[in-house]
Amino acid sequence: MRYSALSLLRGALNGHRDWPQAWRNPSLKGSYDAVIVGGGGHGLATAYYLAKQHGMRNIAVLEKGWLGGGNTGRNTAVSRSNYFYPESTRFFDHSLRLYEGLGRELNFNIMLSQQGIIGLAASRHELETYRRWVTAMQLQPVDAELLTRDQVAARVPLLNMSRRARYPVYGAFMQKRGAISRHDAVAWGYARAADALGVDIIQHCEVTGIDVAGGAVCGLRTTQGTVRSDKVALAVAGHSSELAAMAGLRLPIESQALQAMVTEPVKPCFDHIVISPAVHCYLSQSDRGEFVIGGGTDLYPSYGQRGSLRGTEAVLGAVVELYPALSRMRLMRQWAGIVDISPDTSPIIGKTPVTGLYLSTGWGTGGYKAIPAGGETLAWTMAEDRPHELIEPFGLDRFVSGRLIDEGAASGVAH
Ligand SMILES: Cc1cc2nc3c(=O)[nH]c(=O)nc-3n(C[C@H](O)[C@H](O)[C@H](O)COP(=O)(O)OP(=O)(O)OC[C@H]3O[C@@H](n4cnc5c(N)ncnc54)[C@H](O)[C@@H]3O)c2cc1C
Repeated sequence: MRYSALSLLRGALNGHRDWPQAWRNPSLKGSYDAVIVGGGGHGLATAYYLAKQHGMRNIAVLEKGWLGGGNTGRNTAVSRSNYFYPESTRFFDHSLRLYEGLGRELNFNIMLSQQGIIGLAASRHELETYRRWVTAMQLQPVDAELLTRDQVAARVPLLNMSRRARYPVYGAFMQKRGAISRHDAVAWGYARAADALGVDIIQHCEVTGIDVAGGAVCGLRTTQGTVRSDKVALAVAGHSSELAAMAGLRLPIESQALQAMVTEPVKPCFDHIVISPAVHCYLSQSDRGEFVIGGGTDLYPSYGQRGSLRGTEAVLGAVVELYPALSRMRLMRQWAGIVDISPDTSPIIGKTPVTGLYLSTGWGTGGYKAIPAGGETLAWTMAEDRPHELIEPFGLDRFVSGRLIDEGAASGVAH
């Protein structure tokens, strides 16, 4: 559907009364060929690619709240593919490429802005680590480069570049294709496109039980009734442990709060995403002029969606040290989401020991950027019932084989 300026104005004045719904509001059927639990980006993208690329039409997405109301609508919307290990770089770069064409694929403006991500080095040691990281990425080949102190100062004039700063800048890592986009648009775009292909998106439908018989999944119990299906995917982020336990699985996942916050809006003055892994804070300026600020998790298990004051203080303390000019700005909002952290901070995606039960979890602090590739590869895995090659290294079985992919240690941060 395309709108003229006049029809937009008319819609605004009459309360959008005549606008068609972007997706249907269907009732839950008794059985589906595939059911995806979780109406966040990963669940919706999986449903879309199952319908689009594998011709499945009898699919449901079950969401206990509203679409994109979980981490997909709570994140700081950074996409990048600068990871250390080849498995990670390959997967996340595929995702970034899908993002680069996503607006066209979904006919939905996701407002992708490839302003580049800069990772600050606060010591000579960190700069040396970046040198190896850049080389590892260039070998893939994926774009990555080192910046000198002067180049950083020219790109980020608000930074405190004093040699006596508490967090001195020795240089930086940069990926120019690093981007921010509109997270709601990603959820809505996938939802609208999946619905148009016949996928039933059922909101306010909480899954309360998973039925397993003879080692295979056969159905789900929900607050809107029971449903039969022999293919079920769990894409429920911070609630993965709870849901997997319903099928008798114990996951190596810890759920923690991750916070973000925004300042009042100001004129455009910051045109990169800048992260300081040493002090664990990052920021970008939104198209509305607000600074969008994030940091590390609250570091203890919790299902509280507010986050701790200690976490907020730690991030803001670092922002003020790094960008003294921001110290007089007012903070408008702060919130948190419950993220799903695996022991090696890499995702867990693919098959499980229960036949027909698939998982998309462990995205932790960095799964927004993975939505297109996570959805596409999980859909392939569900349709073929074997792991897609891009996600084969990220299976649950790595916690048995010991072939961990410790990006937390190798590339430091995962946003
Ligand atoms: C503050 C913050 C900042 C972040 N910043 C970034 C970033 O800049 N870049 C990046 O790549 N990633 C970032 N992330 C991580 C990213 O948001 C997540 O990894 C990603 O959104 C996960 O998507 P998802 O679809 O798996 O989960 P979600 O979007 O959380 O969707 C899961 C859905 O499952 C539903 N659900 C749960 N239990 C049930 C049930 N029993 N029945 C039915 N439905 C259920 C929930 O209501 C939810 O809507 C950030 C996260 C947070 C919290």
